Amino acid sequence: MSSTPPSPTRSPLRAARILLLTAAVGVSFGSWANDHGGDHASGAQGAAASQDEPKVIAKDSLKRKMAAGKAAETSAASAPSGKAEPTSVSMAELRDLIDQKIAEVRAKQAAAPAVKIINKSPKPRPAAISSQVRQTMAAHGAAAVPGLPVGHDLHWEYTGAAGPQSWGQLNPEFKACNTGTRQSPIDIRDGIKVQLEPIQFDYRPTPFRVIDNGHTVQVNLDAGNNITVSGRRYELVQFHFHRPSEERINGRQYEMVAHLVHKDAQGRLAVIAVLLDQGKEHPMVQLVWNSLPLEKSIEQASPVMLDMNLMLPEQRQYYTYMGSLTTPPCTEGVLWLVMKQPATLSPYQASVFSRLYANNARPVQSASGRMIKEGQ
Ligand SMILES: [Zn+2]
Repeated sequence: MSSTPPSPTRSPLRAARILLLTAAVGVSFGSWANDHGGDHASGAQGAAASQDEPKVIAKDSLKRKMAAGKAAETSAASAPSGKAEPTSVSMAELRDLIDQKIAEVRAKQAAAPAVKIINKSPKPRPAAISSQVRQTMAAHGAAAVPGLPVGHDLHWEYTGAAGPQSWGQLNPEFKACNTGTRQSPIDIRDGIKVQLEPIQFDYRPTPFRVIDNGHTVQVNLDAGNNITVSGRRYELVQFHFHRPSEERINGRQYEMVAHLVHKDAQGRLAVIAVLLDQGKEHPMVQLVWNSLPLEKSIEQASPVMLDMNLMLPEQRQYYTYMGSLTTPPCTEGVLWLVMKQPATLSPYQASVFSRLYANNARPVQSASGRMIKEGQ
């Protein structure tokens, strides 16, 4: 590989091919991140993660994108680029050059393992990519398990051996579930009563999709719904449900809770909790139930729009404290805004959810002297 230096006619071609390959790989992973960055709660301060990632979808989608990336790479490698090639080179020469380059690349690939062993060099490029993918998967709640293929979904549950007490040991990525000091949910009590600035809601009727992701029923929304808190603007990306409510207010647990997950431009999360008490039917909850998918992990688009203003209770006072995601990886740095007034849903609506998830609430965590503010 370090034989003859590339001739002047070869190096533009080489440069063009490297560019094409780089572009193909870049586009592939770049678009993957875009597709998945916005549709769920990924990370506080970039470290993050969503509990409620539609894992199967994400995995399949990743496979598709990787295949697309490969295809792009292949076509880039095999397509003689007329633009990049100097006009003085004939087609036959061009073919020879390409054959030669391909042979060079193959020889390098064949030599790679020997180089790796002798020089103890870092992993070759493909392994580096897969580790990047693995990290991304983990950050989205689909953590890697030693001995299993990359991207295998790590199984966690609300009961049994993979239940909340064990989340922190299931994977190093989940460590915060056990060792974190600002975990959620908490029993909200003894808050400092203050005048909190109102949350500014900028919600509008929006198309939505419903998914049963194996941990909850989640609604993914198109862009366009925002809140502003303390001068910071967050966009609503999804909401989902827990039964019973994860939050307690002075020890009281409610029938259910809806978590409205918002993310700002830096990836910081703000979650609005709307407690759901038994009572009158909730029209928005009914719209979601109407679009429940028949199968898990498959998004079901609704033919109607969802107006999130109607998900909120009439009164907008709230409690606020700093906490974490309530599912692995339990990432901290999440701003919690818990509405003081519960909304209601009918006993039938609650029973629909309990047929799918009778208990998907993490137990309350120690408040550890955290500041809780209660709006008046
Ligand atoms: Zn939640």
